[in-house]
Amino acid sequence: MDDCTQLRQSIRSQLQSGRMPLAAGYQVYETQGNGASCACCHRAIPGNDVRYEVDCPTVEGPIELAMHPDCYELWLTESKKLGG
Ligand SMILES: [Zn+2]
Repeated sequence: MDDCTQLRQSIRSQLQSGRMPLAAGYQVYETQGNGASCACCHRAIPGNDVRYEVDCPTVEGPIELAMHPDCYELWLTESKKLGG
């Protein structure tokens, strides 16, 4: 199993368990890494990398997620499969 497949499954299980919101009604901004960890792969996003800042509405209120661009694409794909 390659890294991408593992990450995909990890994102899917986080979506299914509600630990991550589905991609719906969100806003995304492209910005610079700040060392914050990615919501998908939990690796830090260093300052010289692109960081996607995703503002998601949830039942508890809006939350802000940091993601790598590649992780963001996987999050979108997996959300769609789950009906997001
Ligand atoms: Zn990531």
